[in-house]
Amino acid sequence: MLPAPIPNNESERIASLRRMLILSTPDEEAIDRVTRTAQRLFNTPIALLSLIDSQRQWFKSCIGLPVRETGRDVSFCGHAIMDDALFVVEDATADPRFADNPLVTGDPHVIFYAGRPLHNADGHRIGTLCIIDHQPRPFSDKDRDALNDLGYWMETVFANRELSEAEKAMLEELDEARRTSLLDPMLNIWNRGAAMQMLDREVQRAFRNKGPLSLLMVDIDHFKAINDNLGHPAGDAVLIEFAKRMRSLTRAYDVIGRYGGDEFMIILPETDASAALPLAQRLLKAITLAPFIAGEEAINVTASLGLATSHYPDETLEMTTLIERADQALLAAKRAGRNQVMLYTAPPGAA
Ligand code: GH3
Ligand code: MG
Repeated sequence: MLPAPIPNNESERIASLRRMLILSTPDEEAIDRVTRTAQRLFNTPIALLSLIDSQRQWFKSCIGLPVRETGRDVSFCGHAIMDDALFVVEDATADPRFADNPLVTGDPHVIFYAGRPLHNADGHRIGTLCIIDHQPRPFSDKDRDALNDLGYWMETVFANRELSEAEKAMLEELDEARRTSLLDPMLNIWNRGAAMQMLDREVQRAFRNKGPLSLLMVDIDHFKAINDNLGHPAGDAVLIEFAKRMRSLTRAYDVIGRYGGDEFMIILPETDASAALPLAQRLLKAITLAPFIAGEEAINVTASLGLATSHYPDETLEMTTLIERADQALLAAKRAGRNQVMLYTAPPGAA
């Protein structure tokens, strides 16, 4: 096996990749959309956005693999970033560079590989958009053109990537290992601790900027019944799809975190109630519109959403108050029969 070579400009390349604040971060809809399109277009079992870090390749977007990283030395993408051209291996078993590669001889059985090297805004080749099959296949000039176009699309997404101010500040402070500890491993969204840290930052920013800030608490209705009736794996599948649907509708700079088992927190920076409420309604619609598929089952899911807003100068709220209010609104939505959005209202008699 020929291990993935190291480019001449490696230290600048890695520094540039790190500055993108993209390694060990949650899934992003704009990026997943491109990977999904590649997977559908070429009908391969695996499609990835792989970023070549110093020792590993890390999959920012991942369809068809149970792992999010492998060693760099065995990676095909590590070869692909050595040049601007597409890197295509139609049959790895017949290629002396890869025939005895453990990714070829064992899981995930990479037999066909086509990778489009991706450049970041600094012009560094930081990874690839790649498709993988478990059997050899030809790759025509038309296929090459299509993968190349998708690569341009992904580069455009990189250039226009938006993070919330709080997310950016947090990512700048944390190394990759620490970031990984703040991600929910099953859902690839921020965990409770991370979401709380970012809410804290957003609350402070709202104070400084004298701007609005909204918080949504979202909880799946009767989730326990899904587990009880269809099993824990079906429950997991619902959670994964639920997080995806929320991600597909929120804006790039909104922050989604898993607050508890089936409860999510969505931070909506610089958003007042008049903008947050329709967004919450759209989220609910996306959840109820089509059933969730788990194995053979089609499951109708509803959710309850509680919304609270901090709005200068009327009311600039501390973090705990904002959470309490969103929680109370969520509880009110549950009590009112579930499957609805409730905006926090002050109890009668409150000042
Ligand atoms: P409600 O409408 O009042 O929210 O009812 P519910 O059944 O959704 O509420 P409850 O809080 O009783 O149930 C949440 C369940 O979520 C209980 C717990 O076993 C389950 N759960 C928590 N984490 C996970 C997980 O990661 N996977 C699965 N499958 N279930 C989980
Ligand atoms: Mg629930």
